[in-house]
Amino acid sequence: MSRALCPRCGDDRDDYRDICPACGHRPIDEGLLVAWLLSDHHLTDLQLDQAADRIRDGHPIRPSDRQIRIARRALGRTFSSDPGLSVNERLLLLGCSLVLTPLPAWVCFGWWFNARPRAAWQSFGIAIPGSVIFGAFGLWLALRPWLQALAEQGG
Ligand SMILES: [Zn+2]
Repeated sequence: MSRALCPRCGDDRDDYRDICPACGHRPIDEGLLVAWLLSDHHLTDLQLDQAADRIRDGHPIRPSDRQIRIARRALGRTFSSDPGLSVNERLLLLGCSLVLTPLPAWVCFGWWFNARPRAAWQSFGIAIPGSVIFGAFGLWLALRPWLQALAEQGG
């Protein structure tokens, strides 16, 4: 049994991912990080009581960048709930990697590394072959005039 506070009303609930039974607040995205910080994953029971008092008194909870980073890292490690990329997202990223540039796949990899680990590694899987093919194509383009000149000389 775990304990977590609602970031909006300070009410207790069992799981930081749950919808608050008191006010209906549902933590998503950044809110999920704040909700995690306000749970017994991060705070002691006493600290949770103090935080609950602060929220009930109307003080908004504003975690520092450092705390957000801690939450992001902790959630990234245990995020088995990351559904990863959809088929369409993967095709889009792959198409972009092959036709335009593999850069977006690399950016996605870095961007999601902590928050969406599964999506990040899928991006990585697209970025590698995309980069190889893109590099080979660039090399071919660069060498083409030289190869043509060589062929003409030979013939
Ligand atoms: Zn609430």
